[in-house]
Parts: sequence; C-alpha cells; structure tokens
Amino acid sequence: MIPESFKNDLLNRVDIVDLIERHVRLKKAGANFVACCPFHNEKTPSFTVSPSKQFYHCFGCGAHGNAISFVMEYSGLGYIEAVKDLAESVGMKLPEFERRAGGGAPIAGDEGPDLYDIMKRAADFYREQLKASPAAVEYLKGRGLTGKVAARFGIGYAPPGWQNLQPVFPDYADKALKDCGLVIDGEGGRRYDRFRDRIVFPILNQRGSVIGFGGRVLGEGEPKYLNSPETPLFEKGRELYGLPQARTAIREAGRVVVVEGYMDVVALSQHGIEYAVATLGTATSATHVQKLFRQTDEIVFCFDGDAAGLRAAWHALEVSLPVLADHKAVKFLFLPAEDDPDSYVRARGREAFERLLHEARPLSEFFLAELRGRVDVTTPEGRSRLIHEAKPLLKRVAAPALQLQLLKQVAQASDMTQEDAARLTEIRSAGPARSAYAAPARGPDRGMLALDHRLERELIICILAHPPLAREVPAEIVDDGHPEGRALAALIGFEGIEGLTHAVILEAMRDSEHEALLNRVDGELLERRMEMNVARTEFNAAITALRMRNPNPRIRELEEKDARGRLIGQGLTGQESEEYRQLKAEEAALKQHRMPPSRMV
Ligand SMILES: [Zn+2]
Repeated sequence: MIPESFKNDLLNRVDIVDLIERHVRLKKAGANFVACCPFHNEKTPSFTVSPSKQFYHCFGCGAHGNAISFVMEYSGLGYIEAVKDLAESVGMKLPEFERRAGGGAPIAGDEGPDLYDIMKRAADFYREQLKASPAAVEYLKGRGLTGKVAARFGIGYAPPGWQNLQPVFPDYADKALKDCGLVIDGEGGRRYDRFRDRIVFPILNQRGSVIGFGGRVLGEGEPKYLNSPETPLFEKGRELYGLPQARTAIREAGRVVVVEGYMDVVALSQHGIEYAVATLGTATSATHVQKLFRQTDEIVFCFDGDAAGLRAAWHALEVSLPVLADHKAVKFLFLPAEDDPDSYVRARGREAFERLLHEARPLSEFFLAELRGRVDVTTPEGRSRLIHEAKPLLKRVAAPALQLQLLKQVAQASDMTQEDAARLTEIRSAGPARSAYAAPARGPDRGMLALDHRLERELIICILAHPPLAREVPAEIVDDGHPEGRALAALIGFEGIEGLTHAVILEAMRDSEHEALLNRVDGELLERRMEMNVARTEFNAAITALRMRNPNPRIRELEEKDARGRLIGQGLTGQESEEYRQLKAEEAALKQHRMPPSRMV
C-alpha cells in the first residue's frame, strides 16, 4: 500500500538514535548505544541501538526492529500511522494511496481532521448513551458486569436509529467519518451509522487511543458481532482487544490468556482474571504472538472445544512455531463444548478457570495428538504419513531445544529412531555444536550435511553487517529446504534494491517467516561487532565452505550430458568442455582449502 521506495527513503533519512533518544536515555557503549529496555522491566541495560545499522535489539525480551518498528511498539501505532508519524518527523509527506478496499482513503495529514479525535468523540457519545439506556444497562448487569468493569473497558451503547451520530458530528457528511468506519454510505448516497442498537466495546491501541469498535447485539439478531472495518487507524491482524488494560496484570501473572471475544475478556476481568486479551474476529497472527511475547513468556490460547475451536487452535500453533523461543511457552486450553470463557467463569468462578489454565496442554502435546489423529499409527503407512505431515511443521520451529523435543516425540510415535526421523524431516540431529568451519578432512561427507545451517547463518550475518554482499552470493549454493536457506534466498532477492541497508532489509522482511531468524542473527551481530573487513573475510570463507559442502550441480549436469551424448556419438561442445575443466579446477582448489580461482564466465 505504501510504496517500497518511500519506505526505503524514509528509513534512510531517519536516524534511529535520534528517534529513540526522544523517549529513552541512551548511553554510548563502544560502537553502539545501550539503555534499560523500554519494553520490559529490567535493572541492567540489555537494550542496544546500532547507529551504523539503524536497528535496536533487546537481549532480554527480544524487542527488535528498525525505526518504524520502534514507533509501532513504543507508541502503539498501527503500521501506516507509524510510517506517517515518522515521515512527518523528517518532513516527508506520505503519498496518497489506495486502501485495499479501493475506497481511496488517504491518511489525514496535518491539514485534515484528526481521526483519533473523531473516534474519541464517538466513544464518549456511546458511553453517555449507555447511561441513558436502561435496557442496555440491564443487559450488562444480566451478564454479571458491574459499572466498574464497564468503565474499565469504556463500554458504551449505540442506540437504535440510523443517524444518532449526526448531533455529535454536525458535518455528518464529512469524509473522515467514513474513513474512521463510523458510518456507511448506503445506496442512493444515504449515509447511516454503522453501529445501531448494539453494546459497543472500544478497541484501544497501546497508547490508549480508540482506534475501532466492536459491537454486540443485545439479544438475538445478526450479525451477533460487528467490528469496525480496517481503517487507517485500525488493522485487525495486529490488534488485540484488551491489551492496554491487561498489560500490568499480564506482567504480574507471568502469562496472558488469549480468548476469542470481547465479552470473554470483560467477563474474565470481572472475575479477577485481568490478564486476558482477544483477537478481533481474525485468526491469530504471528504479529499477535510476537506482540504478546514482548509482554510475557507464556501464552495460553483458549478455544471452544468444538471443531472450529480445534481448527483455530491449530492455526495458532502454526503461526507460533517460527516465533517461539526456548524460554517461551505456548499452551492450549479447550473448554467444554457448551462453554465459552464468559459462561464458564460466570458459572464456576475464578478458581475453576485458573485450574483449567494450569492444566492447559503444552504445545508439544497438542502438536503430537493432532498429528496422530490425522493418521493411523497402527500401520507402517500411517506412521510414514505422520513423518510426512510433521516435516514442514518441524522445519518451521525456530527454538532449537523445542524442535528436538518435538522431533523425539514424532520419532517415537512413528516407531523410528531419532536419527531416521531427523533425516526424513531434514532436521539436524542432536549432537555437540560444531564449528561453522569444521570442514571434513576428505571432501564432503554425510556428517557435514547433517550440520546445522551455521554457514548459511554466517552468510546472513555478513549480509546484515554489510548489505551489498547480498549481490555476491552465488545462487547455486542456496538450498531453500530450511529456514536459514530460505532467508538467504530472500536476501539475495533484494539485490536489485537501491540503497539496500540493514533497516531496509528488516522492513522488507516485516511479517515474513524470516523475522524471528533475523532477530536472533542481529543479536549475534551486535555481540560480534563485525567490522566491514571482517564481514568480507567471513563471507568468503562461508561461501567456500558451502561450495565444498554442496558440489556445484553444474558439474553433475555436464557429466550427465557427456555420458548421454556419448551414446549417440556427440559429447560436450568445446565451450562446455572448457567450462567443465574450469569447474573441476575450481572444485580441486576448494578441496585444498584454497580460494577458488576467479571464474571466467
Ligand atoms: Zn527488552
């Protein structure tokens, strides 16, 4: 939606040290700056800002990103708002752009109306209306809510009728009202309120500003739930209902519960469980999980025990795999089919619900049970299929210890040794960590292939230290069968970008499967303080080592062509013979641990 070139210009113009210094006191430490992390509680600084690479990284909580990420996380802004904010701070103007829906709603600039202010006025109006509506108050009381909790969540009421917002906004035709999602332009241009005769739940961003509403009908009626549409303020896949209110309780409890509806969050809070948040009518996203892991080490997903709940839980598991770290935990709680958290806690109270939380199933258990349920493990075919189904999932697990644990379980369930399971799923097998350059004495061997993807990782570090190196990675050494290989492939894909910098790379990788990997690699990069010349040397060494490990496929191709050709009486062309000779010489040089002769292509 926002042109890449604009974002890249912006990232090249902003200074992340300036930006962060406005909010956090930074101290110079060598080439970098450090501070106590603004995203988690700590006494000794583990938050580091790199001025040369324009990113921040917290060794404590894993907060990580470029200038845009910082504005989003620190100020709790949505992506577009953060870009806009940042752009304004350096005097750049966000170009007008089309919204996904094609509605053409440009961001309100300084000259335009303040969308936050409009939302606040609407929220105030709805809250007033609640007081004036006995039916709505009765409804909330009937659900066991006190005035105190209603106030905590700013709950309001949109009365029946079509244009109740008219007196609040005398210019009811104002385009900004539509941009906020408060009104709908019906057929014939007749405009009316989106929320009518509904309890409304304001959705806040991390700064506490209203960015959207959720509306629930009082009695029966369809749709039961109605949310604000996506607007410049509100991006559903990023937001969690109740997070600003829950933040303190999450920290104290050491965990967060993720439920499906705002009524669940409110009801749990009413019963003293204040560490619950809800996704907003969208599936759990990796962004949600990352956001929550910033706050705590344990996430309990709470779903209904029906088929839809299981599906939603499995999706949450899938998006969690790449962002999990070994010191973080994801658990799953399935309620009895007839219950949701709201009805459960109302009927049985806080202790009963917390007992359920303690018994929530660890991710590993849910993972295996679900996979076993898909196959017939009493047959060899079923057990093979189990491996087949587990493979893509295991490969996405970023946490090494967890990956091994899951592998072990899968091996047991499929009646195989862990080594066989590792080989079949292409997961590195357990064993002492080996040095990246532990080159085999006599050419490539199997053991080398089982190594973790340390060399690819090393190349990624080098490229992050010095992005122009991305242009020099030979495509044939990239194997996209594992996360490091895929990240490397993605990095090479950026070679065409003008002014490729570290911050631009992070931007391009935002919300991709590579984010968690880049986060860890950046941590390592900071610890190693890799200078340009060091990056260059390490880069060459890693390329050489990779070439040794993965012999050039072109050699095999030429050999096959030669063998085929002989059968019909024509071998390689002169040019191909020469290429083959060159490649073999190169390979021989590699085997002697020398740098390859420059290729004559
Ligand atoms: Zn931190």
